[in-house]
Amino acid sequence: MIVTTEAVVLRTLKYGETSLIATLFTRVAGKIGVIAKGARDRKSRLGPSLQPMNHVTAVYYYKQTRELQLLSQCDLVRSLKGLTDDVERMAVGMAAVELVDAVTPAEEENAPLLDLLLSTLATAARATRNPGNTLYYFETRLLENLGFSPGFHRCSHCGASLEDAASIHGLHVSQHGVVCAKCARRGMGIEPLSAPAAKILQRLQEIRDPEAVTRMTLSPQVKGEVAGVLRRLLVGHVEGLRTLRSEAVFSSLLQSGSGPLAGDIQL
Ligand SMILES: [Zn+2]
Repeated sequence: MIVTTEAVVLRTLKYGETSLIATLFTRVAGKIGVIAKGARDRKSRLGPSLQPMNHVTAVYYYKQTRELQLLSQCDLVRSLKGLTDDVERMAVGMAAVELVDAVTPAEEENAPLLDLLLSTLATAARATRNPGNTLYYFETRLLENLGFSPGFHRCSHCGASLEDAASIHGLHVSQHGVVCAKCARRGMGIEPLSAPAAKILQRLQEIRDPEAVTRMTLSPQVKGEVAGVLRRLLVGHVEGLRTLRSEAVFSSLLQSGSGPLAGDIQL
């Protein structure tokens, strides 16, 4: 069966003398492995578009019994060149494709996740400030897509409103979300969370436009907390998800931090 579908290239691997094996996240069939014969040959029409993070239209021959499908055509839909121009944008793109690869089972259609990935990559590619925030947006929505909506507005244990709890006792975070101080006393593996970081997590859950997150300037401390909470929730929820290759890039960016710009919301 010949399949034509929109896809994002998640990763590629050299194979043999001139070929490439690629993992694609497709609209019609979710994550699939393809072999692109001769893609590393200079004259190949497959090679140039078959790069991680690229938004492509792929044509492949599908055979259920095969682990790798045969890619026959791969054309760029939209260039996300902006992603590779800047180290922070690139870190977002790398982390987003790596996360999708890590959390999705093979051949399970998930069009909303493809749309989320595409809007995140496109926003990060053209962001003129705070592109790193788009990863926090992506991770919040990814948790939702996986059927796990952590409680950032209410204590994930007792349901108390965190707006009140924060002002009285401070907040904590567990593997299931944010918890009030009263519940934190009963649990293990719970860490403190600052009120500004909790506020950002709440806002990330409300925002439906990735563009909006690039207008928030976060202090390095809040960034570190937000990144830590989201990653902790993902690791707690997705079996087998550990350190990402792109993690090191991100932590070094977090440490270097970036100065606030006029007109930004600062917390
Ligand atoms: Zn509670």
